[in-house]
Amino acid sequence: MFRLLRSSFSWSQMYCLLAQNSSNKQSTFGKSAKDFCTVLQNQIPRISRSRVQSKSLLRSQQFQVLSRLRFHGSSQEQLDSASLGDAKAEVRSSPLSANVSRERQEWQAGFRDFISSKDGLEWQSSDWDLVAKNMSLSGGPKWEVLCMHTLYKDKNLTLGRSLMKYLEQQAHPLSQIALTFYFGLLGETSTTPEQDDEAKVIFDRVLQISDFLDPASIEVLVSGLSCTKYYKECVKLIDMCKESSTVGLSILVNTLFGSIRFQDLDLLTSTLSMIEETIEPTQLAIYSAKIIESCLASRSEILSTVMEFYKKHSLLLPLKQTEEIIEIFQRLQPTKWRIQTSYIHHRTGRCVNCQHQMERTAITEEEFKKLQQAFLDQVIVGSNIFYKSTPEEVKNFVQFVERTGPYDVVIDGLNVINKQRSPKQPEVLDKTVKHFHDQGKKVLLLGSKVLTRYISNIKRLNPKPAIYMTATTKADDSFFLYAALQSRKDTLIVSKDKLRDHKFLMDPTLRPLFQQWLKKAQIYDWFFSRYGEFTIGRRHLYNIGPQRDECGWHLPLNDIDKDYPFGNFTVLCLRDSSTVPVQNKSIKNYHANERKRQGINYGKKGQQKKSTKPASVDLEELMKC
Ligand SMILES: [Zn+2]
Repeated sequence: MFRLLRSSFSWSQMYCLLAQNSSNKQSTFGKSAKDFCTVLQNQIPRISRSRVQSKSLLRSQQFQVLSRLRFHGSSQEQLDSASLGDAKAEVRSSPLSANVSRERQEWQAGFRDFISSKDGLEWQSSDWDLVAKNMSLSGGPKWEVLCMHTLYKDKNLTLGRSLMKYLEQQAHPLSQIALTFYFGLLGETSTTPEQDDEAKVIFDRVLQISDFLDPASIEVLVSGLSCTKYYKECVKLIDMCKESSTVGLSILVNTLFGSIRFQDLDLLTSTLSMIEETIEPTQLAIYSAKIIESCLASRSEILSTVMEFYKKHSLLLPLKQTEEIIEIFQRLQPTKWRIQTSYIHHRTGRCVNCQHQMERTAITEEEFKKLQQAFLDQVIVGSNIFYKSTPEEVKNFVQFVERTGPYDVVIDGLNVINKQRSPKQPEVLDKTVKHFHDQGKKVLLLGSKVLTRYISNIKRLNPKPAIYMTATTKADDSFFLYAALQSRKDTLIVSKDKLRDHKFLMDPTLRPLFQQWLKKAQIYDWFFSRYGEFTIGRRHLYNIGPQRDECGWHLPLNDIDKDYPFGNFTVLCLRDSSTVPVQNKSIKNYHANERKRQGINYGKKGQQKKSTKPASVDLEELMKC
């Protein structure tokens, strides 16, 4: 089996495959991973002769496979029978990358009870003797590792030091894992340069035992280092982690906190770049409150740099962190701000609370050309994105666009039909196409063969819109994106589908640009008035932030929900109370006024109850962006 796998995959791919399989608790998969460890072990001498680096990679793979086995509860026998040399004993007892099992949780509860029973009295060697004698876990990690892990989690520095002193007096060598937790404890609780130095000594000892560290150990070390003046060492650990694994979110976030804490703009910038290249930047949003708190305690350029990153990647602050963020601003910069939850008016781009004008969403002609080329190279040519279509259909479509493009508007026909509320009215397709056609726009109507019976009226329009019906049930989203990107910078896409997933097929550096373009290009909110007119609702014509102006901040909140799948432009409006009086505009009336302006009355949020003739929508005005 391995010969077969080896012929098809690289060693690292095989590791991923088998480690993934080991997540399945079926013994056959577990056995596969164990056998794979044996094969890896056998490969080490042969490979190390030619490539020294490969050895550390293979050792790393062994660690990770075993971590996965351990994590998913593989039996002790499997671990014992794997021929893993010296590494085995350490990994077997490693709780770092393993889930804390119920047995361990009970053990930790017992240890905490014992600590409580001491009632704050100083611990003697006899106390630790007692713990060592009575609290060993059969087949599990060493007692001192579990103790240090518990003290690390509880940030109990006094007992951590006491345990360390006790262990130093013992005959057997110190466990690298126990030392790692002790370092994490010292680092994360450090408030003085002296304790930073004390932690650094332990850090050096950890590396002296072995310069190979598994990702979970690196996570603890980075977490500790980032709180000390030795925070720059995090970069070396990240490089070490890169050799064998993908750098995880926690490692990057802790390094980010280190750079903010020590006001290191260079490290901050390079860490943000690493985040951009390594993970999906939106994952950072859950740390928003902590990031803002950390930035406010640092110099002002730090907050500006981080918020610029938020803006670039369209990161939104979690709505449930709103109160916490307001409290942080009020605590760290008391009396400085008047803070109000507000909205950015989607047509005017003004904050409903302070009337500040937000910037328009825009990309330059040059940026559009870059995006156009990249989409063609990286998505169309570089991937099999047209998986729902045959290669022949793709070729036909590309030729069709060359022949009939460029377009002003690309309409997802099936989406227009299907996104109506019941009963379905096929004539809405006519109305949608006619809306743009009457304004002299060149329209491409995309759909599948099932739409053929609805387009007889559209075919009679003069000039006739371009119509393309795919053979498959649903045209791939890439068809719309391709047709729009092959047209002009201001070409619109009419579809309620979220088309953002395609950004992941592009180079990470171009993803923000793609997102920016799509925001501007997509018409996702429309309705039909009582008079049957196609009417455009909200659009992302303005960038909702974060934006800094001379009087404060506008921070966008994540208000995406079932009723507003593309968001509702909610922001936190912070005005400097010493410079600007806040206009007493009623935010509560914002939505009511907006509905009145559009001629819509809602019985319930998001549900159209009845409609009157809407104010006419000036498409030219909307497209000036
Ligand atoms: Zn405002």
